[in-house]
Amino acid sequence: MRYTRGFIPTIKEVPKEATNTSHVLLLRGGYVRQVGAGIYELLPLGLRVLHRIEGIVRDEMDRAGAQEVLMPALLPSEYFQETGRWDSFGDTLIRLKDRKGGEYNLGPTHEEIITDMVRRDVKSYRQMPLNLYQIQMKFRDEPRPRAGLLRCREFVMKDAYSFDIDEAGALTSYAQMRDAYHRIFKRLGLAYRIVAADSGAMGGSTSAEFQVLAQSGEDAIAACTKCDYAANIEVATAAFKADVAPDAAAMQASLKIHTPGAGGIEDVVKFIGKGLTPAHMLKSLVYTAGLRHVMVVVRGDHQVHELKLARLLKVDAVHLASDADVKSVTGASVGFAGPVGFKGDVFADHAVANVLNAVTGANESDHHLTNVNYGRDFKAELADLRTVAAGDACPECGAALDLYQGIEGGHIFILGTHYSAKMGATFLDEKGAEKPIIMGCYGIGVSRLIAAAIEQHHDENGITWPLAIAPYHVIVTPLGKEDAIREAAEKVYTSLLAAGVEVILDDRDERPGVKFKDADLLGIPLRITIGQKSLAQGKVELKKRTEKDAVLVDIDACAAAVRTLVTEAGAVLRGGSA
Ligand SMILES: [Zn+2]
Repeated sequence: MRYTRGFIPTIKEVPKEATNTSHVLLLRGGYVRQVGAGIYELLPLGLRVLHRIEGIVRDEMDRAGAQEVLMPALLPSEYFQETGRWDSFGDTLIRLKDRKGGEYNLGPTHEEIITDMVRRDVKSYRQMPLNLYQIQMKFRDEPRPRAGLLRCREFVMKDAYSFDIDEAGALTSYAQMRDAYHRIFKRLGLAYRIVAADSGAMGGSTSAEFQVLAQSGEDAIAACTKCDYAANIEVATAAFKADVAPDAAAMQASLKIHTPGAGGIEDVVKFIGKGLTPAHMLKSLVYTAGLRHVMVVVRGDHQVHELKLARLLKVDAVHLASDADVKSVTGASVGFAGPVGFKGDVFADHAVANVLNAVTGANESDHHLTNVNYGRDFKAELADLRTVAAGDACPECGAALDLYQGIEGGHIFILGTHYSAKMGATFLDEKGAEKPIIMGCYGIGVSRLIAAAIEQHHDENGITWPLAIAPYHVIVTPLGKEDAIREAAEKVYTSLLAAGVEVILDDRDERPGVKFKDADLLGIPLRITIGQKSLAQGKVELKKRTEKDAVLVDIDACAAAVRTLVTEAGAVLRGGSA
């Protein structure tokens, strides 16, 4: 495509309504425009990215044996009424009436419709396993549509549904979809983790999310920097090293010191000085759990994970005790509590046992104790009670964990007979007995992945698309208006087209700086620059968007070089030739 013929309305300023990176860059790069709250139109570049993602999704779904269908978006109300979701979906369901007063809703998801499709024509165990999918617009009246394509009211989704005769079959279908999803996310060029949605444990689960790792997602997850371990922060654990407990010989005599007004960890660190760090302190907090008060101790640089504490204490929730309650159970004001001499139950995080000669509250206002050691000075029930922090050891392999904001890109789960039982989708088994079909459901937020990819792939100058989903693979940038430059650019452009590569020729009458800035903003993965100096040697510059330096390539060899880079990245060439 010639830039001058394209519709690429870039914007220089950061649009006011956009706060997150992908939203800003999609608007600035001329990929999308907003039509209404949570409603967007895709401009040519945006649609090209969507098509690339769809292509990979379709390819892998077909490979996994699923068949594509297309269900309507406009749904007569009877289907959602049949399962009770007409009411339970609440305000998220967009309802409307036709000219005769008939009630309809726009499809937020299609379990009812697909179950109806299957119950009409699938009657025998011989017709299963069956997996049907579609790529289609979904409609949800989100209370707070925001973040551009990350949370919309109208969005493109791939939803697949599996139908099996028994649980073993359903688990096989689930595993096939999980494998297909791994292939899809790898081919998209996205760093992702599979996170068990219910238990947090890896494998074995019948519900999992494919989380794209980014800094701006909504779900905090801890993921290993080396292995595949990943878990929602609500359930993530760090490895605990039991063998690094301090040596008793190194423990010094405990002293009570006067720390007037220094209640918080940072205040004490500042007050005592002498190289004391929060990691050498014990944070002691009094919690109310049901009718009792307990003390919880974590390392000074760690945070109590209240959900883990509640689970340990077998209560629904815990909350920090009131100032008055702290005073009455510890004898000291808030900030001066400590486990030594505390008359009540003490629960401590595992890491507490490894701190040598710690500083903690003395259960006396304006006083702390130094050289406090677990085991010698106090006892506690040790448990995993803290929120995982970056740098903690992975529970699977011991390498460092890092914290990410995960963007849910896909979700797979086994529905069981929830819909088939309600809607009478049954079959006759080998013995002629009537049974409900066992279903699974598998979604991918196709349009959301455009934004997720940008959240993961960008720098201060713009988008840095993975080759497999970039709107164009390469941009040809001639510098100057001389005939020789223009002719060389045409020659390179033609040779790239012939090589099946998706190419933009920046034929605009603009300064080099403007062309480079736009190429970076759009995020085209490869750039061929044609300038006088290199052209005199019969060469052009080939530069990757993610690298600083260009390499010189013979003008006659550059199309082949680009083609190699594109195929190596698994991107599809025009005409589908390899
Ligand atoms: Zn690991």
